[in-house]
Amino acid sequence: VAAHLADAICDSFGNPFRVSGRKVSLECSIGIVMSNEQSKTAEQMLKNADLALLSAKKNGRGDWRVFNAEMSREMKRRHKLENDLRVALAGNQFEAHFQPIVNVKEGRVSVCEALLRWKHPTNGYISPASFVPIAEELGLITDIGSWMLFEACTACASWPGGTRVAVNLSPIQFKHGDLAQTVKDALAHSGLEADRLELEITESLMLENVGQTIELLNQFNRMGVRISLDDFGTGYSSLSYMNELPLDKVKIDRSFILDLQANSNSLTLVQAVTALGQKLGLTVVVEGIETKEQLELLLLNTPIDEIQGYLFSKPVNGEAVRPLLDKRQIGNKSMLATLNSSR
Ligand code: C2E
Ligand code: MG
Ligand code: MG
Repeated sequence: VAAHLADAICDSFGNPFRVSGRKVSLECSIGIVMSNEQSKTAEQMLKNADLALLSAKKNGRGDWRVFNAEMSREMKRRHKLENDLRVALAGNQFEAHFQPIVNVKEGRVSVCEALLRWKHPTNGYISPASFVPIAEELGLITDIGSWMLFEACTACASWPGGTRVAVNLSPIQFKHGDLAQTVKDALAHSGLEADRLELEITESLMLENVGQTIELLNQFNRMGVRISLDDFGTGYSSLSYMNELPLDKVKIDRSFILDLQANSNSLTLVQAVTALGQKLGLTVVVEGIETKEQLELLLLNTPIDEIQGYLFSKPVNGEAVRPLLDKRQIGNKSMLATLNSSR
Protein backbone atom coordinates (compact mmCIF):
# COMPACT_ATOMS: atom_id res chain seq x y z
CA VAL A 1 0.00 0.00 0.00
CA ALA A 2 2.80 2.41 0.95
CA ALA A 3 4.62 1.66 -2.32
CA HIS A 4 1.48 2.29 -4.38
CA LEU A 5 0.87 5.54 -2.60
CA ALA A 6 4.51 6.59 -3.05
CA ASP A 7 4.36 5.76 -6.77
CA ALA A 8 1.19 7.81 -7.15
CA ILE A 9 2.75 10.80 -5.33
CA CYS A 10 5.97 10.64 -7.38
CA ASP A 11 3.94 10.31 -10.63
CA SER A 12 1.86 13.35 -9.76
CA PHE A 13 5.08 15.39 -9.92
CA GLY A 14 5.73 14.15 -13.47
CA ASN A 15 4.25 17.23 -15.17
CA PRO A 16 5.32 20.81 -14.53
CA PHE A 17 3.13 22.97 -12.28
CA ARG A 18 1.87 26.38 -13.25
CA VAL A 19 2.72 29.07 -10.70
CA SER A 20 1.72 32.67 -11.54
CA GLY A 21 1.71 31.79 -15.23
CA ARG A 22 5.16 30.16 -15.13
CA LYS A 23 5.97 26.51 -15.54
CA VAL A 24 7.75 25.03 -12.51
CA SER A 25 9.18 21.50 -12.57
CA LEU A 26 9.43 19.76 -9.23
CA GLU A 27 10.69 16.38 -8.13
CA CYS A 28 9.70 14.42 -5.09
CA SER A 29 11.73 11.81 -3.18
CA ILE A 30 10.16 9.65 -0.50
CA GLY A 31 11.54 7.59 2.40
CA ILE A 32 9.29 4.86 3.77
CA VAL A 33 9.63 3.06 7.08
CA MET A 34 7.58 0.13 8.43
CA SER A 35 7.28 -0.35 12.15
CA ASN A 36 9.29 -3.42 13.13
CA GLU A 37 12.19 -4.52 15.36
CA GLN A 38 14.58 -1.73 14.18
CA SER A 39 11.87 0.89 14.04
CA LYS A 40 9.87 0.70 17.23
CA THR A 41 9.54 4.17 18.67
CA ALA A 42 8.24 7.21 16.79
CA GLU A 43 11.65 8.82 17.12
CA GLN A 44 13.39 5.77 15.67
CA MET A 45 10.88 5.58 12.83
CA LEU A 46 11.45 9.20 11.83
CA LYS A 47 15.21 8.72 11.91
CA ASN A 48 15.01 5.62 9.74
CA ALA A 49 12.57 7.25 7.32
CA ASP A 50 15.18 9.99 6.96
CA LEU A 51 17.83 7.41 6.07
CA ALA A 52 15.48 5.90 3.47
CA LEU A 53 14.82 9.39 2.07
CA LEU A 54 18.56 10.04 1.87
CA SER A 55 18.99 6.80 -0.04
CA ALA A 56 16.15 7.73 -2.44
CA LYS A 57 17.85 11.07 -3.12
CA LYS A 58 21.22 9.42 -3.65
CA ASN A 59 19.67 7.10 -6.22
CA GLY A 60 18.82 9.92 -8.55
CA ARG A 61 15.79 11.52 -6.84
CA GLY A 62 12.17 11.40 -7.96
CA ASP A 63 11.84 7.93 -6.45
CA TRP A 64 11.08 6.19 -3.14
CA ARG A 65 12.96 3.74 -0.90
CA VAL A 66 11.90 1.54 2.01
CA PHE A 67 14.24 1.61 5.01
CA ASN A 68 16.39 -1.48 5.52
CA ALA A 69 19.03 -2.43 8.08
CA GLU A 70 21.87 -1.97 5.55
CA MET A 71 21.05 1.75 5.43
CA SER A 72 21.71 2.15 9.12
CA ARG A 73 24.89 0.02 8.91
CA GLU A 74 26.07 2.31 6.08
CA MET A 75 25.37 5.37 8.24
CA LYS A 76 27.35 3.86 11.13
CA ARG A 77 30.31 3.10 8.81
CA ARG A 78 30.17 6.66 7.59
CA HIS A 79 30.13 8.10 11.13
CA LYS A 80 33.09 5.93 12.06
CA LEU A 81 35.00 7.11 8.98
CA GLU A 82 34.25 10.74 9.88
CA ASN A 83 35.50 10.18 13.38
CA ASP A 84 38.59 8.31 12.17
CA LEU A 85 39.39 11.19 9.80
CA ARG A 86 39.45 13.69 12.66
CA VAL A 87 41.74 11.37 14.62
CA ALA A 88 43.95 10.88 11.52
CA LEU A 89 44.61 14.60 11.18
CA ALA A 90 45.55 14.94 14.84
CA GLY A 91 47.53 11.69 14.84
CA ASN A 92 49.79 12.16 11.78
CA GLN A 93 48.27 9.31 9.83
CA PHE A 94 48.56 11.09 6.48
CA GLU A 95 51.45 10.62 4.11
CA ALA A 96 52.46 12.42 0.94
CA HIS A 97 53.28 10.10 -1.94
CA PHE A 98 54.68 11.34 -5.23
CA GLN A 99 54.08 10.34 -8.83
CA PRO A 100 56.69 11.47 -11.37
CA ILE A 101 55.59 13.24 -14.54
CA VAL A 102 57.97 12.90 -17.48
CA ASN A 103 58.83 15.66 -19.92
CA VAL A 104 58.70 14.00 -23.32
CA LYS A 105 61.33 16.13 -25.06
CA GLU A 106 63.83 16.09 -22.23
CA GLY A 107 63.17 12.45 -21.34
CA ARG A 108 63.36 13.22 -17.65
CA VAL A 109 61.11 13.82 -14.68
CA SER A 110 60.06 17.47 -14.67
CA VAL A 111 57.42 17.39 -11.93
CA CYS A 112 56.13 15.04 -9.25
CA GLU A 113 52.46 15.15 -8.27
CA ALA A 114 51.94 14.93 -4.51
CA LEU A 115 49.13 12.50 -3.72
CA LEU A 116 47.58 12.14 -0.33
CA ARG A 117 47.62 8.75 1.39
CA TRP A 118 45.85 7.85 4.62
CA LYS A 119 47.49 5.07 6.55
CA HIS A 120 44.58 3.88 8.65
CA PRO A 121 45.73 2.04 11.80
CA THR A 122 43.49 -1.00 11.15
CA ASN A 123 42.31 -0.75 7.51
CA GLY A 124 45.69 0.00 5.89
CA TYR A 125 46.07 2.56 3.09
CA ILE A 126 42.82 4.26 2.10
CA SER A 127 42.46 5.89 -1.32
CA PRO A 128 41.95 9.67 -1.41
CA ALA A 129 39.07 9.16 -3.85
CA SER A 130 37.09 7.63 -0.99
CA PHE A 131 37.95 10.02 1.84
CA VAL A 132 38.70 13.40 0.24
CA PRO A 133 34.98 14.04 -0.52
CA ILE A 134 34.14 13.31 3.13
CA ALA A 135 37.00 15.50 4.36
CA GLU A 136 35.56 18.24 2.12
CA GLU A 137 32.08 17.85 3.56
CA LEU A 138 33.46 17.99 7.11
CA GLY A 139 35.63 21.02 6.32
CA LEU A 140 38.74 19.04 7.32
CA ILE A 141 40.23 19.38 3.83
CA THR A 142 41.43 22.91 4.64
CA ASP A 143 43.77 21.64 7.36
CA ILE A 144 44.73 18.51 5.43
CA GLY A 145 45.41 20.62 2.34
CA SER A 146 47.65 23.02 4.29
CA TRP A 147 49.55 20.08 5.74
CA MET A 148 50.02 18.73 2.21
CA LEU A 149 51.32 22.06 0.87
CA PHE A 150 53.97 22.22 3.59
CA GLU A 151 54.90 18.55 3.18
CA ALA A 152 55.14 18.75 -0.63
CA CYS A 153 57.14 22.00 -0.69
CA THR A 154 59.55 20.67 1.94
CA ALA A 155 60.14 17.46 -0.02
CA CYS A 156 60.56 19.35 -3.31
CA ALA A 157 63.10 21.77 -1.83
CA SER A 158 65.44 18.81 -1.36
CA TRP A 159 65.05 17.40 -4.89
CA PRO A 160 67.79 17.79 -7.47
CA GLY A 161 67.71 19.44 -10.87
CA GLY A 162 64.89 21.91 -10.39
CA THR A 163 62.22 19.19 -10.36
CA ARG A 164 58.91 20.81 -9.46
CA VAL A 165 56.07 19.59 -7.25
CA ALA A 166 52.34 19.65 -8.05
CA VAL A 167 49.77 19.86 -5.26
CA ASN A 168 46.03 19.18 -5.68
CA LEU A 169 43.70 21.83 -4.29
CA SER A 170 40.10 21.32 -3.27
CA PRO A 171 37.54 24.04 -4.14
CA ILE A 172 36.81 24.19 -0.39
CA GLN A 173 40.32 25.55 0.21
CA PHE A 174 39.43 28.55 -1.97
CA LYS A 175 36.35 29.25 0.17
CA HIS A 176 37.66 28.73 3.69
CA GLY A 177 40.91 29.77 5.27
CA ASP A 178 43.52 32.03 3.73
CA LEU A 179 44.87 29.94 0.86
CA ALA A 180 47.18 32.68 -0.47
CA GLN A 181 48.80 33.06 2.95
CA THR A 182 49.11 29.27 3.37
CA VAL A 183 50.89 29.00 0.03
CA LYS A 184 53.23 31.86 0.94
CA ASP A 185 53.95 30.27 4.32
CA ALA A 186 54.63 26.86 2.78
CA LEU A 187 57.10 28.40 0.32
CA ALA A 188 58.81 30.51 2.98
CA HIS A 189 59.00 27.66 5.47
CA SER A 190 60.50 25.23 2.96
CA GLY A 191 62.64 27.75 1.11
CA LEU A 192 61.22 26.50 -2.20
CA GLU A 193 61.25 28.89 -5.18
CA ALA A 194 57.68 29.82 -6.15
CA ASP A 195 58.12 28.64 -9.74
CA ARG A 196 58.80 25.12 -8.54
CA LEU A 197 55.29 24.83 -7.14
CA GLU A 198 52.33 23.89 -9.33
CA LEU A 199 48.79 24.06 -7.99
CA GLU A 200 46.29 21.66 -9.56
CA ILE A 201 42.71 22.88 -9.76
CA THR A 202 39.63 21.30 -11.32
CA GLU A 203 36.83 22.81 -13.33
CA SER A 204 34.39 22.33 -10.43
CA LEU A 205 36.15 25.33 -8.86
CA MET A 206 34.42 27.51 -11.45
CA LEU A 207 30.93 26.67 -10.22
CA GLU A 208 30.89 29.39 -7.57
CA ASN A 209 32.60 32.71 -6.83
CA VAL A 210 34.23 32.86 -10.24
CA GLY A 211 35.48 36.43 -9.81
CA GLN A 212 37.06 35.73 -6.43
CA THR A 213 38.62 32.49 -7.69
CA ILE A 214 40.21 34.17 -10.71
CA GLU A 215 41.55 36.95 -8.46
CA LEU A 216 43.22 34.37 -6.20
CA LEU A 217 44.64 32.51 -9.19
CA ASN A 218 46.02 35.77 -10.57
CA GLN A 219 47.65 36.38 -7.20
CA PHE A 220 49.38 32.97 -7.42
CA ASN A 221 50.36 33.80 -10.96
CA ARG A 222 52.00 37.05 -9.84
CA MET A 223 53.88 35.16 -7.13
CA GLY A 224 55.32 32.91 -9.85
CA VAL A 225 53.40 29.80 -8.75
CA ARG A 226 52.11 27.74 -11.69
CA ILE A 227 48.49 26.67 -12.17
CA SER A 228 47.34 23.42 -13.81
CA LEU A 229 43.83 22.47 -14.84
CA ASP A 230 43.42 18.85 -13.70
CA ASP A 231 41.09 16.12 -15.03
CA PHE A 232 40.39 18.13 -18.17
CA GLY A 233 37.55 16.68 -20.22
CA THR A 234 35.45 15.41 -17.32
CA GLY A 235 32.44 17.17 -15.85
CA TYR A 236 31.63 20.64 -17.03
CA SER A 237 34.51 21.07 -19.42
CA SER A 238 34.36 24.40 -21.05
CA LEU A 239 37.09 25.33 -23.47
CA SER A 240 36.66 28.94 -22.42
CA TYR A 241 38.32 28.12 -19.07
CA MET A 242 41.52 27.48 -20.97
CA ASN A 243 41.43 31.10 -22.00
CA GLU A 244 39.85 32.79 -18.98
CA LEU A 245 42.03 31.31 -16.25
CA PRO A 246 45.68 32.22 -15.73
CA LEU A 247 46.78 28.66 -16.55
CA ASP A 248 50.20 27.23 -17.28
CA LYS A 249 49.16 23.65 -17.87
CA VAL A 250 46.26 21.39 -18.81
CA LYS A 251 46.08 17.76 -17.71
CA ILE A 252 43.94 15.59 -19.98
CA ASP A 253 41.97 13.11 -17.93
CA ARG A 254 42.80 9.41 -17.78
CA SER A 255 39.35 8.45 -19.09
CA PHE A 256 40.42 9.49 -22.62
CA ILE A 257 43.47 7.27 -22.45
CA LEU A 258 41.49 4.26 -21.24
CA ASP A 259 39.69 3.84 -24.56
CA LEU A 260 42.33 5.44 -26.77
CA GLN A 261 42.75 2.33 -28.90
CA ALA A 262 39.09 1.32 -29.00
CA ASN A 263 37.55 4.73 -29.61
CA SER A 264 39.02 6.99 -32.27
CA ASN A 265 37.03 9.93 -30.86
CA SER A 266 39.21 9.87 -27.78
CA LEU A 267 42.35 10.34 -29.84
CA THR A 268 40.66 13.12 -31.82
CA LEU A 269 39.76 14.85 -28.58
CA VAL A 270 43.28 14.56 -27.19
CA GLN A 271 44.61 15.96 -30.48
CA ALA A 272 42.18 18.89 -30.38
CA VAL A 273 42.90 19.79 -26.75
CA THR A 274 46.64 19.45 -27.28
CA ALA A 275 46.54 21.71 -30.33
CA LEU A 276 44.42 24.30 -28.53
CA GLY A 277 46.58 24.11 -25.40
CA GLN A 278 49.73 24.70 -27.40
CA LYS A 279 48.19 27.63 -29.29
CA LEU A 280 47.40 29.19 -25.92
CA GLY A 281 50.94 28.57 -24.73
CA LEU A 282 49.99 25.89 -22.20
CA THR A 283 51.93 22.76 -21.32
CA VAL A 284 49.80 19.71 -22.09
CA VAL A 285 49.99 16.63 -19.89
CA VAL A 286 48.30 13.32 -20.49
CA GLU A 287 47.34 11.38 -17.34
CA GLY A 288 46.98 7.64 -16.85
CA ILE A 289 49.31 6.15 -19.46
CA GLU A 290 49.62 2.48 -18.59
CA THR A 291 50.85 0.77 -21.74
CA LYS A 292 53.60 1.25 -24.29
CA GLU A 293 50.96 1.09 -27.04
CA GLN A 294 49.07 4.04 -25.58
CA LEU A 295 52.28 6.03 -25.35
CA GLU A 296 53.27 5.21 -28.94
CA LEU A 297 49.86 6.17 -30.25
CA LEU A 298 50.03 9.49 -28.42
CA LEU A 299 53.58 10.33 -29.42
CA LEU A 300 52.81 9.52 -33.03
CA ASN A 301 49.62 11.60 -33.24
CA THR A 302 49.90 14.45 -30.76
CA PRO A 303 52.55 16.96 -29.69
CA ILE A 304 52.04 16.30 -25.93
CA ASP A 305 54.62 17.82 -23.59
CA GLU A 306 54.40 15.66 -20.48
CA ILE A 307 53.17 12.20 -19.56
CA GLN A 308 52.02 10.70 -16.28
CA GLY A 309 50.99 7.12 -15.62
CA TYR A 310 51.76 3.71 -14.24
CA LEU A 311 53.86 2.94 -17.35
CA PHE A 312 56.58 5.14 -15.92
CA SER A 313 55.80 4.94 -12.22
CA LYS A 314 52.97 4.57 -9.74
CA PRO A 315 52.86 7.09 -6.90
CA VAL A 316 55.59 6.14 -4.39
CA ASN A 317 56.64 7.44 -1.00
CA GLY A 318 59.06 10.33 -0.47
CA GLU A 319 62.06 8.07 -0.14
CA ALA A 320 61.34 5.90 -3.17
CA VAL A 321 60.76 8.88 -5.47
CA ARG A 322 64.30 10.24 -5.11
CA PRO A 323 66.13 7.74 -7.34
CA LEU A 324 63.50 8.36 -10.07
CA LEU A 325 64.46 12.02 -10.27
CA ASP A 326 67.93 11.34 -11.58
CA LYS A 327 68.05 11.77 -15.35
CA ARG A 328 70.24 8.75 -15.93
CA GLN A 329 67.92 6.41 -14.11
CA ILE A 330 64.69 6.87 -16.03
CA GLY A 331 63.68 3.38 -14.78
CA ASN A 332 61.48 1.88 -17.47
CA LYS A 333 63.79 1.02 -20.38
CA SER A 334 61.12 0.25 -22.97
CA MET A 335 59.43 3.55 -22.21
CA LEU A 336 62.71 5.38 -22.65
CA ALA A 337 63.23 3.63 -25.99
CA THR A 338 59.75 4.70 -27.12
CA LEU A 339 60.47 8.28 -26.10
CA ASN A 340 63.84 8.29 -27.82
CA SER A 341 62.49 6.89 -31.06
CA SER A 342 59.79 9.56 -31.15
CA ARG A 343 62.28 12.39 -30.89
P1 C2E B 1 44.24 13.31 -9.62
O1 C2E B 1 44.71 14.61 -9.08
O2 C2E B 1 43.70 13.32 -11.00
O3 C2E B 1 45.48 12.33 -9.49
C1 C2E B 1 45.79 11.32 -10.41
C2 C2E B 1 45.23 10.02 -9.93
O4 C2E B 1 45.39 9.06 -10.98
C3 C2E B 1 45.99 9.42 -8.73
O5 C2E B 1 45.07 8.65 -7.98
C4 C2E B 1 47.01 8.52 -9.42
O6 C2E B 1 47.47 7.48 -8.59
C5 C2E B 1 46.14 7.97 -10.54
N1 C2E B 1 46.94 7.50 -11.67
C6 C2E B 1 48.04 8.03 -12.20
N2 C2E B 1 48.49 7.32 -13.25
C7 C2E B 1 47.62 6.28 -13.38
C8 C2E B 1 47.56 5.17 -14.30
O7 C2E B 1 48.37 4.99 -15.19
N3 C2E B 1 46.52 4.31 -14.11
C9 C2E B 1 45.59 4.47 -13.12
N4 C2E B 1 44.62 3.56 -13.00
N5 C2E B 1 45.63 5.50 -12.25
C10 C2E B 1 46.64 6.39 -12.38
P2 C2E B 1 44.95 8.79 -6.40
O8 C2E B 1 46.30 8.98 -5.79
O9 C2E B 1 44.11 7.66 -5.92
O10 C2E B 1 44.16 10.15 -6.22
C11 C2E B 1 42.84 10.28 -6.64
C12 C2E B 1 42.37 11.70 -6.56
O11 C2E B 1 42.30 12.15 -5.20
C13 C2E B 1 43.31 12.70 -7.25
O12 C2E B 1 43.11 12.68 -8.64
C14 C2E B 1 42.88 13.99 -6.59
O13 C2E B 1 41.71 14.48 -7.19
C15 C2E B 1 42.53 13.53 -5.18
N6 C2E B 1 43.67 13.86 -4.30
C16 C2E B 1 44.82 13.17 -4.08
N7 C2E B 1 45.61 13.83 -3.22
C17 C2E B 1 44.97 14.98 -2.89
C18 C2E B 1 45.28 16.11 -2.04
O14 C2E B 1 46.35 16.22 -1.42
N8 C2E B 1 44.32 17.09 -1.95
C19 C2E B 1 43.15 17.03 -2.64
N9 C2E B 1 42.27 18.04 -2.50
N10 C2E B 1 42.83 16.00 -3.45
C20 C2E B 1 43.73 14.99 -3.57
MG1 MG C 1 45.91 15.98 -9.77
MG1 MG D 1 43.75 14.15 -12.70
